[in-house]
Amino acid sequence: MFKGFTRFLQSPGERLKSLFGPETSSGGGPELRIIPRQEHPVSRQHFSDAALKVLYRLHNAGYEAYLVGGCIRDSLLGRMPKDFDVATDATPEQVKELFRNSRIIGRRFRIVHVRFGREVIEVTTFRGKPSDDHGDHIAQQSDEGLLLRDNVWGDIQEDALRRDFTINALYYSIADFSIHDFADGVRDIEARTLRLIGDPATRYREDPVRMLRAVRFAAKLDFHLDPATEAPIHELAPLLLQIPPARLFDEILKLFMGGHGLETFHLLRHYGLFAMLFPEADEAMAELPWAERLVELALESTDRRIAEERPVTPAFLFAALLWGPVQLRQVAHERDGMPPIPALQAASQQVVSRQLQHISIPKRFSLPMRDIWDLQQRLPMRRGRRVYQTREHPRFRAAYDLLLLREGAGELAPGLGDWWTAFQQADEHEQRRLLDKAGANPAGSGAPRKRKRRRRKPRGPSSDS
Ligand code: ATP
Ligand code: MG
Repeated sequence: MFKGFTRFLQSPGERLKSLFGPETSSGGGPELRIIPRQEHPVSRQHFSDAALKVLYRLHNAGYEAYLVGGCIRDSLLGRMPKDFDVATDATPEQVKELFRNSRIIGRRFRIVHVRFGREVIEVTTFRGKPSDDHGDHIAQQSDEGLLLRDNVWGDIQEDALRRDFTINALYYSIADFSIHDFADGVRDIEARTLRLIGDPATRYREDPVRMLRAVRFAAKLDFHLDPATEAPIHELAPLLLQIPPARLFDEILKLFMGGHGLETFHLLRHYGLFAMLFPEADEAMAELPWAERLVELALESTDRRIAEERPVTPAFLFAALLWGPVQLRQVAHERDGMPPIPALQAASQQVVSRQLQHISIPKRFSLPMRDIWDLQQRLPMRRGRRVYQTREHPRFRAAYDLLLLREGAGELAPGLGDWWTAFQQADEHEQRRLLDKAGANPAGSGAPRKRKRRRRKPRGPSSDS
């Protein structure tokens, strides 16, 4: 399908220049290159009907209209775009007037959502330079350089330079189907390089979430970070603490539920970003030998499920991410004399409320997450009716999955997971046999390894495993 483009990839730059002669842009930055339709493989067939409708209606009303960002980047890489972003010189109000099915959203960054059934097309008005004095203070910056608002309109060239990475500043024109490359994005796509436009430290200060985006795209596209783009991340990572928890929640879902969660996690840890998002989980990974492995296993299984197009829930992932800190706190409470069940509840409560200061986890995920934790205490209780109640719990399956990961990570000795596997597959007769077996050996397999030394006063002479 991308035969033409392969050719284009093999003979980049020079050929383009000689054929089309670059239009010179002002200010010594990269030059604008316009790649005509016959020289690139991006076709209208890659775009949804909804995206095309939006483009054509804007165009027919006399506005400029381009597809920009991930959809063009992904098409050039031979991937099917998953959503569509449109850039235009029409203001949000003008866009809204053209589409009955549209809504202006956002304050910090006003855009229009045009809805077609389940699909939403994001329409963004060209942004100008925030530092320009436009009189009415529609761009705001904090003392640290953080962009608080960015609603200064500009032209397409200014808009391109306000975008994050060069590969995200490619515009597909509906007027003549050409691609406008303002920042040498095509060159960076060929070299599989993520490069911020402009001075990296300044761009991260304007919006620290760009550090997360860098890591996300690196993992998703299998790109490397340009050294200058990479260099400031470690030092600037704490700027993420300024980002509103609700925005971070959205980013976390994209980071961990985009199909490349494991690789993303390793990069986040490598750059010191993970500790800014999940400080207690990061601490637990330093203290508990199994905590990091548990998260890796959870992400591996999430990635696998996404590849197989099976459903995934953030509740399960958060349950695994935060299980380490829950255990640290539970053990501490028990050491102070609290019985296990209230100790787990207190620990859960504390871990959730501390985590919410960083990332807002909606109740529809945090409540099931806590159920999954509670069930960890019920899974070892294998007597009589309780077993059936546990089995019928709506979160049983997720709790059982977490139990398997805990065994896999070495937190628990294996055994209990197998028992539950067998129990689920068994007929009534076999289930009764399994219950008898468990009843005869209630404290058998599944006992936490680390708890062997938990009590202050050991009953017998202490024996290490
Ligand atoms: P994907 O949709 O695959 O996650 P994307 O690049 O389309 O990737 P979006 O979040 O949809 O990402 O953003 C669309 C475009 O808006 C980006 O390609 C980029 O040009 C611009 N953009 C998004 N977020 C930022 C940001 N924080 N700073 C600068 N530009 C941004
Ligand atoms: Mg997008």
